[in-house]
Amino acid sequence: MADPPAPTLRLRIDAEALAANWRALDRLSGAARAGAAVKADCYGLGVADCLPTLRDAGARKFFVAHWSEVAPLLDHVEPEQVAVLHGPVTPEDAAYAIATGVRPVVNSIRQARIWAEAGGGACDLMVDTGINRLGVSPAETGDPAIAALEIDTLMSHLACADEDSPMNARQLQRFEEIPAALSYQRRSLANSAGIALGAAYHFDETRPGLSLYGGVPRSEFAGDIRQVAYPQAAIIQLRDLQPGESVGYNAVFTADRPMRVGVVSLGYADGFLRCRGPGGVLTHDGAELPLLGKVSMDMVVADLTQAPELREGDWLDVPFDLPEVAAASGLSQYELLTTLGSRFAG
Ligand SMILES: *Cc1c(COP(=O)(O)O)cnc(C)c1O
Repeated sequence: MADPPAPTLRLRIDAEALAANWRALDRLSGAARAGAAVKADCYGLGVADCLPTLRDAGARKFFVAHWSEVAPLLDHVEPEQVAVLHGPVTPEDAAYAIATGVRPVVNSIRQARIWAEAGGGACDLMVDTGINRLGVSPAETGDPAIAALEIDTLMSHLACADEDSPMNARQLQRFEEIPAALSYQRRSLANSAGIALGAAYHFDETRPGLSLYGGVPRSEFAGDIRQVAYPQAAIIQLRDLQPGESVGYNAVFTADRPMRVGVVSLGYADGFLRCRGPGGVLTHDGAELPLLGKVSMDMVVADLTQAPELREGDWLDVPFDLPEVAAASGLSQYELLTTLGSRFAG
């Protein structure tokens, strides 16, 4: 097969910023050690690009959600450093954990039994302290199937860490009150935002995800967290619009003057959702190029009035300061990262 021609979408990962973010979150975690949530292909930024950097920065524990996410990690880290948050839902999951040596996070009495029947061994235990997603209730920690587990990390997950909510202290208290009868090596409660809630929330290990990749869920992080991902899209055609001509599906934009515009290789299939169209911009050397008409699956059209020198093949920057773009688009910082899609080249 011939090599494909040069791509028209690219994503630059600032590895130095990624490493600096992990180090900042590790430092902000005080006496606790920061792990790294690397589920969903490192929140859309790519395991191959991000995992070696996080490992070399010092991360020693890596969290994924699905069993299907395990194999790509094992090219870079030891199996016992990988924890699978969804846990052993089926005996096949448990057998896979044993075959690979990765750690399941046990989330229910049923999962504890599945894990024991498969042979068991070291695992993590998720306790639900109020989010009502995965996890055993504090009362269920007394069940013989849970008591029999060889628990490495006892964990829970905060529902409202990105807000000043009484829920945070409530969950902290429930986590601290888990019966002392349960034995474990370490405890872990805080995600990125939870780290900012203070030392009481840190325990032995923290589990940042979003902020590794440049997300700022709480203002406390603003000076410490750097942008990591820099998407760019190429102009694939120039057009000159006459007054009265419209652009794109449903003709929602009509030119009222002669305009030079660029058709850009970026669409909602690349995570550039329709809410980022009209009112949004792409940029070039700092110049803002307003978007015209609806975002298509594979294209947007930008007004090049501010940069008339641009030609086909030139690259435009896609704004990706996460807190800023989230505020402007109404999307969450998590959604902006994880919807990037698979058409970006490195
Ligand atoms: C995704 C996830 C994290 C990371 O959360 P961020 O808000 O991205 O820092 C931590 N713990 C659990 C259980 C998770 O599912």
